[in-house]
Amino acid sequence: MGVLRLMLVAGVFVAGYFLLRSAIKQFREGARPAQPPAARNEMVQDPVCKTYVPRGSAVSADIGGQTYLFCSRDCADTFQSQITR
Ligand SMILES: [Zn+2]
Repeated sequence: MGVLRLMLVAGVFVAGYFLLRSAIKQFREGARPAQPPAARNEMVQDPVCKTYVPRGSAVSADIGGQTYLFCSRDCADTFQSQITR
């Protein structure tokens, strides 16, 4: 048995291992909710008052096809009036 063939067999095993591992990872991620808790707790900056608010409790507004996050509805309205002026 040549070294090349041994390397080929080893390569197939390694590739199979990584494929299996990524399949298991995808399966586990698929079982989780679309947004992991970490992303919800991520701090986002209000572009109006520069306050940091957790993504989960931020007020989101779609302005000009983009989603912006604010600390309150007041800031969203302020931003909207600034951008549409
Ligand atoms: Zn604000």
